[in-house]
Amino acid sequence: MSALPRELQCMSTSGKTSFNRTFLGRLNLRFPWLKLYLVIFIGIAAILDLLDLTISRTNDPQDRISIAPMSKHVQITKRDIAGKKLIALTFDDGPSATTTPKLLNILKSRDVPATFFMLGNMARGNPDIVKRVSEEGHEVASHTMYHQNLIRISNDSAQSDINEAKSIFEDILGHAPNLTRPPYGNYNDNVRRAVNTPMILWSVDTLDWKKRDPDTIVSTALDQAYDGAIILMHDIYDTTVEAVPKLIDSMRQNGYEFVTIPELAKERGSSLESGVAYYNFRP
Ligand SMILES: [Zn+2]
Repeated sequence: MSALPRELQCMSTSGKTSFNRTFLGRLNLRFPWLKLYLVIFIGIAAILDLLDLTISRTNDPQDRISIAPMSKHVQITKRDIAGKKLIALTFDDGPSATTTPKLLNILKSRDVPATFFMLGNMARGNPDIVKRVSEEGHEVASHTMYHQNLIRISNDSAQSDINEAKSIFEDILGHAPNLTRPPYGNYNDNVRRAVNTPMILWSVDTLDWKKRDPDTIVSTALDQAYDGAIILMHDIYDTTVEAVPKLIDSMRQNGYEFVTIPELAKERGSSLESGVAYYNFRP
């Protein structure tokens, strides 16, 4: 206790430098272990800093680039679907060499997957478009070969029409289509057996083939849409392609997100069964 007044006196007479020296000296006197602690602290800090630098260096930017977009994509997909109303856009009767590529550009720019029920007859003439549709994450499905009314022709004719389309898609994509939409939505027990895939019908008919007006197509789809609905359109009309951007934007504003038919079925816990007709996938 006697040292303290002496130091205070020293401080008052010797100025600031003397104070610092004396203050440190006082600390050293009272806490002789402090220097050791400081050395240990600085040492640990330096080691941590080095470790951090090492981790940063091993995090190769190339790795980050390759990992980040993938995980981001998965997160976005999951977040976008979670808690959203789901809608499947379906496009029939193509692919068309003129309108389908335009539609694909629109879908790509808005990151919207769709399901294309193609005619084998049209696919045969546009194999590159069929491949592009598949490569861009859409589902390629069969709408038969020649768009015949399958319940008005013989069982054998129906079977051969379906089989012919199947082999066209197999040649182009390397696998048979997983889904079929019978033309006009018409099927009977023979068709059920012949398709040998689940049959996907629709719940919202935009009548785009008849109306040929983008605004009417959009409002029809919006008015009738619900969570799990399947929207029917045709990618062979300019007016339909014109309607799609507005339709997508409006539906997203209304809380919908877009999925392919297999994605929709999976989200709704439906095990798609061969020969069964599906009109929607309500929650
Ligand atoms: Zn059709």
